[in-house]
Amino acid sequence: MLIGTSAVVTGASSGIGAAVAQALAAEGAGVALLARRRDRLTSLADTINARAGGRARPYEADVADADAVRAAIDAAAADGDGIDIMINNAGGGTWGPAVTADLAGWHDMVEVNLTGVLNATHAALPHLTHAAAHHDRGVADLVTISSIAGRKVPSPHSNVYSATKHAVGAFTEALRQELAEHHVRAGLVEPGLVVTELTTSGRDYVPDATNPTGYGLLQPDDIAAAVVFMVTRPRHVALNEMLVRPTEQT
Ligand code: NDP
Repeated sequence: MLIGTSAVVTGASSGIGAAVAQALAAEGAGVALLARRRDRLTSLADTINARAGGRARPYEADVADADAVRAAIDAAAADGDGIDIMINNAGGGTWGPAVTADLAGWHDMVEVNLTGVLNATHAALPHLTHAAAHHDRGVADLVTISSIAGRKVPSPHSNVYSATKHAVGAFTEALRQELAEHHVRAGLVEPGLVVTELTTSGRDYVPDATNPTGYGLLQPDDIAAAVVFMVTRPRHVALNEMLVRPTEQT
């Protein structure tokens, strides 16, 4: 259903981003894989390209570096005949009491989760509006992976992480209204607890879900399926927001 389209996925070197890239590729999209760890991106590109019709390329960039991310996105557009689908997924964070927090850690979170989304979106917008106007599909997609933390009332230790995710939600809604006339759909996907390096590496992560009793948490493929559903709607349908929780998450 996405044959002939080109997508960019930030944070494609692991977790949700890697799953989204594979799912878009399975639908026929060419995928530009953007993150800092080139070895991971190259390995994923090889996996995708080994499949029939697979088209993937790695682009090494830090989303917090505006020039680097613009260069990568422009290169992806040149290599892939434009950009029809932009997925802002790169992100991360730490949780903990504000009174003992490391200020530099807060700034890092803002740099990736918010400034990174702004950098990548600013670079992608001209390509998306061009694709919507000139490609046969007649529509383009800007999807940002926010979080349940951007949707519900923040919990105490989610302080800056929640702030960044609420911010990208507000940014996306403003863009949604502005871009409607350009036929660029701005959508937000808000995962609950997903099993990825973010939630299993032990880097100060404190899950806000009650521990499930057997149904299990979300897997990256569950979020990838939501993203694919969002971007494969007919061009007159804009699915603006998807909140995806594990069944047992409160
Ligand atoms: P992972 O840690 O598995 O993946 C994070 C990805 O972001 C990696 O590919 C990493 O690549 C990339 N990344 C981080 N910093 C940068 C940077 N400065 N520049 C470029 N890429 C960067 O975590 P998830 O897959 O869980 O997270 C993906 C998104 O999903 C995030 O936005 C997260 O906030 C959101 N999310 C996750 C939830 C969960 O429960 N897991 C729940 C709700 C939302 P590299 O290090 O190679 O640069």
